[in-house]
Order: sequence, then structure tokens, then C-alpha cells
Amino acid sequence: MKNGVMMQYFEWNLPNDGNLWKKLKADAKHLHEIGVTAVWIPPAYKADEQQDEGYATYDLFDLGEFDQKNTIRTKYGTKKELKEMIDELHKYKISVYLDAVMNHKSWGDYTEKFTVVEVNPKNRNEAISKPFEIQGWTGYNFPGRKDKYSDFEWHWVHFSGTDYDDASKRSGIFQIQGENKHWSQGVDSENGNYDFLLGNDLDLNHPEVIGELNRWGVWVSKELNLDGMRLDAIKHMNDVFVKQFLETVRKERGEDFYAVGEYWNGNLDILQQYLATMENSIDLFDVPLHYNLFAASDQEADYDLQKLFEGTLTSVHPDCSVTFVDNHDSQIGSSLESYVKDWFKPMAYGIILLAEKGYPCIFYGDYYGIKGEKSPHTAIIDELLKLRKEYAYGEQVNYVDHPSVIGFTRKGDDKHKGSGLCLLISNDQDGNKVMNVGKERSGEVWREYTGSIGEEVTIDEEGNGNFTVKGRNLAVWVKKIKVIPYL
Ligand code: CA
Repeated sequence: MKNGVMMQYFEWNLPNDGNLWKKLKADAKHLHEIGVTAVWIPPAYKADEQQDEGYATYDLFDLGEFDQKNTIRTKYGTKKELKEMIDELHKYKISVYLDAVMNHKSWGDYTEKFTVVEVNPKNRNEAISKPFEIQGWTGYNFPGRKDKYSDFEWHWVHFSGTDYDDASKRSGIFQIQGENKHWSQGVDSENGNYDFLLGNDLDLNHPEVIGELNRWGVWVSKELNLDGMRLDAIKHMNDVFVKQFLETVRKERGEDFYAVGEYWNGNLDILQQYLATMENSIDLFDVPLHYNLFAASDQEADYDLQKLFEGTLTSVHPDCSVTFVDNHDSQIGSSLESYVKDWFKPMAYGIILLAEKGYPCIFYGDYYGIKGEKSPHTAIIDELLKLRKEYAYGEQVNYVDHPSVIGFTRKGDDKHKGSGLCLLISNDQDGNKVMNVGKERSGEVWREYTGSIGEEVTIDEEGNGNFTVKGRNLAVWVKKIKVIPYL
């Protein structure tokens, strides 16, 4: 996937109008033209209510087809519209990755009685009550679906924890008791054991749960002709389950079935450990890079740009790294809010879209805007995508040698005539840097692509150019194409 680009095609505040699948279908040609090669779509199955984004999952087998939870469609549309949209994207050779929520389910169809202990939210290994009986919403028989696609019914025994007792009308973290019941191994150690996130936490050690999720994974991938998945909340899931799930789906769909996991942790060691356990069978979002971009945007000129790539997944494990600037969780008002400030967004996108390493993912909110307000970044992202397609080839050489002006060159390659570029960013004053683009390019005239600088640079006999950048801006220098005037 040479110079592939993923787009996350949703943000948290989309209207509940059932139009996203139709909108995305109509957008397929445009996405292809700007250079998007894959789209990550939100959870496409029935949630606890129509307006839910999809993460409060109710029925994985209801893709907007059955009258359940008072709606046939999901927030994003019907199953028919979903399938039509995917067919259209495939016409333009755009891959489709479904967001798969397998850590938890929202409330079920009826309550059941079972025994729990309440645990300390800050240390889930510490019981703060004796065992007692609660009434939880853990019974699922999906009356609206009537066993179509799967006749599996969920009960309390398929979960490891829940967050509400309907008998006492009380919330808490309730660990379910019984044979083989415990928080899972192979999860993040935050809060003692971070198996439980919210709702009814799936017991991914239970053979019936593993069987049902594997069946679903194969079914949904075939039913929707998926090219891959984005796996939600994997730091709360048994890593052994995740690994065998991907193996099962790939047995049916082929080894190139793509997977990227949301392991939300800024600690590189933990991400590397996870990749080792998974034997690199999954990509991870480069969360440390996101946090560095956020810090750079937040601290402005006080941030030392030489630290920008430190501790990032891309710097040590580029083949398994998905680079991104923001997403639906980091945007303003969301649970992991750490929104890269607008002034720095063009620089951040310049870095992820023009770099040699990492698989970049553009956030819908940055390209189309949030809450229906037009994004100020569409034009620059379009330009960077063009640069990625035409110029961003060959080896990358970093010039990370100054606290406020850094950059890199791409050498270009033979397949893409005239390719290669210099990227510079500044978080303070106007700056300049002598960068080498190769002796063979001596005598070439280079120009700044985004239009921020008018002067041209001639490459000297050593292959060096003295490239400039405006303060708090980015500059992308490429070889000037000779314009032949009409005769
Ligand atoms: Ca879990």
C-alpha cells in the first residue's frame, strides 16, 4: 500500500439523521481523487439508542436491519445504505475498516440475578464489599431479530463485570462471581486491572463468548465485504482473545485482512510489549506521537521541537504504526480530550502525511469540520495529500537539530520522476535550514508548494539548498516544474 492514507470518517457530534452512509457513498469519488485509500467507519450495529455513536453496543448482528431499541436504522443509516456505500467505495479501490466493539455491551433486554463483589474503581483487584446479589441488565435475546444470523443468547455468565444494580438503583463496578470468574489477564495494568471499562464487560475467557465473537467476526467481514477492522478498547481485552480472533477472521478473509488496534496509552514500552505478544499481527495507533503533537500545540514556542519524535511508536516500530493527529476521543468534549490546537494542525498533518514511516489517518473533524462548522484545514490537507501522492517518496533524512525549526527531506525515487521534498516547521520565528537533497539534483530550482514563500531556491553543486520557513508555519519545498507557455 504505497503511500496509503486512511480517513476516520466520523466525529463525535455528527447529527442523528441516518445520513452518514449516504454521505460517504456520495463522497467516494472525491475521496479517491484526493488520495484517500481506506476509510475507517464507525460501529455500524445497533447500540442502546438511535443517537448513540455505536460504542454502547447492543446487538453486533443488527447492522441497521431490525426494529430493536425503538429503531431500525442506526445513527448512521440502514444496513442497505451501509452495503451500498461499501460497494461504492470498493469501486474506487478504497478499503473499508469497520470499528469493532468487543469489549463491552450496553444494557440488555431483561435483568438477571447473580452474585458480585463491588471493587475499588482505582484498584479493581480490591474488593470493597462482601459477595452480594444484584439485578443486572445482562439478559439478551434480541426479540426484534428473532435468531436471524445467530441464535446466541447472552446471560450474566458471559460477562465479567457490570456497572449497575437495578435492585438498588445503584452504579458501581461490580465484579461477577462464579466458577472461572475473574478479571482477565492480558489487559492494561492501569487501575490494578483495566479489564472493566463500562457497561457489561464481556468475559473473553468464556469459550461460548469466544465462539460467538469469532462467528460474528467472520460473518460481518463477509456480509459487508470488509477489508479490515479497527479494534476498539483493546487495552481492556484479553490479548490472547484478540490474537486468535484475528487469526480466525484472516483464515476466512485472507492474511491481508487489515487490523489496527486502539491501545490508548502514551507509554511506548507498553505498546511495544503488546505488539510482541501479538507477534506484530496488528497495527497500533501511535498514541505517544499524538500526545507529542498535542504538547507542541499547547506549549507553543516553549516546546522543544527536537522532542517531537521521542518515544513514538513510529520511531521504533514504523511497520505497525498508524499515525494520527486527532480522533473522536481526543476532540474537544470527548473522554480523552487532548485536541491538537488549530495553529499547529497544518504542521502536524505535514509531518504525518509527508513522512516515510507510519500509516497516516486523517480525522473527519479536521477535514470536514466539527458540529457542522467548516474546518479551516481542508485546503492544507488537500495540498499535503497531493504532495504525498506526487512527491513524498524515497528515504527520509531528519533535520531535528533546533528547538524551534525542524524538518526532513525525502530523497525521491526513480518511479516518481521529480519526486522528493523538504519539509520545515517552525513553532516560533521565521527560520531557515541548509538541507541536502542529493548531488544529482544540483542546479535544480525548487519552490515552496503551499504558497507561504515566494522566493525560489537553486540547489548548489553539493546538493544543498538554503530553505526557509515562516514563523508558526510549515513550508514544503519541491522541484519547480517548468511551465511551457502556449505558443
Ligand atoms: Ca474487558
